[in-house]
Amino acid sequence: MQIAVPTILPLELFDQVQRRLAQNSPKVTAPRIVNGPTLLARLAVCASCGAGMTRTGTRRRGKVYSYYSCGGSHQKGKSVCRGRHVSMARLDELIVDNVKEHLFGGDRLAGILDALVERQGAKDQAVEGRRTALEAEIASSDDRLRRLYRGNRGGHCRPRRRTQATDPGAEAGKGSGAGRS
Ligand SMILES: [Zn+2]
Repeated sequence: MQIAVPTILPLELFDQVQRRLAQNSPKVTAPRIVNGPTLLARLAVCASCGAGMTRTGTRRRGKVYSYYSCGGSHQKGKSVCRGRHVSMARLDELIVDNVKEHLFGGDRLAGILDALVERQGAKDQAVEGRRTALEAEIASSDDRLRRLYRGNRGGHCRPRRRTQATDPGAEAGKGSGAGRS
C-alpha cells in the first residue's frame, strides 16, 4: 500500500544534504576534520605543490605555536616540495576577516536589512488588511443579529402562532385544560 506524502524539501536540497552527510561520515572523512578545531582543514592547499595543508605545531618556551604546513612535503619529502608553513592564527584570522567583510560588509548588510524591513512591512500590511476585513465581518454580523432581535420583538413570529391557533386539536385541548383548572 502506498501513501502520498507532500514534498516538504526540494529534492535538490535533499540530495545535497545526503551527499554532505555521506561525506562527513566517519568512515569517509576522519572526525577530526569534520569536527576538529582546524578551520581550514581540507580547504587550504600549498601554493607550491597543491597538496593539502595539515596542522603542525611547535613548542617554544612553554608556548604552543600552530601552523598550516604542506602535507606533500611532510609525507613525500623535500624532493616533492620544499614545504611551506603559515601561522595558523594569522591565516585563520585573515580568512575569517575576509569572510566577515564579504558577508556583512558595507552595502551588503544594508541591502539585507532593507530587504528584511521591506518584507516585514509587506507582512504588516497584509495583517492589517485581514484585520480590517474581519472587523467589517464582525460589524456586519452584529448588525444582522441586532435586526433579527428587533424583528422578533416586533412580532415577526406571528405567522407561527396563527398556525397553532387554527389547529382545531390544539384549540380544543387548550380550551378543555382551561375549563378544568
Ligand atoms: Zn607543498
